Amino acid sequence: MSAEEILVRCAGVGRTYGSGAAATVALQDANCELAAGARVALVGPSGSGKSTLLHLMAGLDTPTEGTVTWPAMGARAALRPGPVAVVFQGPSLMAPLSVQENVTLPLVLEGVDAGEADDRARAMLERLDLLELADKLPEEISGGQAQRASVARALCGAPRLILADEPTGQLDHANGGHVIESLLEGARSAGAALVVSTHDPEISARLPERWEMAEGRLLAEPVGALS
Ligand code: ADP
Ligand code: MG
Repeated sequence: MSAEEILVRCAGVGRTYGSGAAATVALQDANCELAAGARVALVGPSGSGKSTLLHLMAGLDTPTEGTVTWPAMGARAALRPGPVAVVFQGPSLMAPLSVQENVTLPLVLEGVDAGEADDRARAMLERLDLLELADKLPEEISGGQAQRASVARALCGAPRLILADEPTGQLDHANGGHVIESLLEGARSAGAALVVSTHDPEISARLPERWEMAEGRLLAEPVGALS
């Protein structure tokens, strides 16, 4: 597979938090590739290393062993805001900003003109059926709505890779379904690859590929499929 098609490559990646007697080995010898168009469910029990691996693939964290590279996207500093979008498990909207301002923020940080950023944010909010919440503050909306606003924020920058860390973990069944639909639809229309970590079998069943983790290890050495 050519470099243009590989979004992320992990080679012998490990991550140990802390040192000495307090060290926790969260990830060991992870080898994986994620190709353009991949749709992956990252599954495993709590504490198996899913968030650690996602954060490394997002360039939010650096490995203590091995290397993470982004052959099709360039250097770590160029990933966010930009081609990599992250949806976090817990509340991640900025409390003093309205829903629309939250969705606009990554675009503004990327240098998109404010008027255009607003137009794009409103179009994305409309697509996710959130337009009527545009002027509300995060504390004025439900958890499910906030998580979908986080998805809108992630999709608004036209990412090439979306990494969602248990995005439905704190939601009920109906809201969880709505969030995963929004992610799949957004990835499809952006032409982005999507990785969703989850321990919900109904959510993982929505994605065609499964990467399984246990005790800090990937159980296979996956190479993401081309769409
Ligand atoms: P998962 O997302 O699958 O629940 P994590 O990647 O969050 O797993 O955690 C893997 C292991 O690393 C767990 O033992 C967890 O307690 C530990 N861990 C995660 N983050 C930190 C941190 N910042 N400091 C110390 N230990 C951590
Ligand atoms: Mg986690």
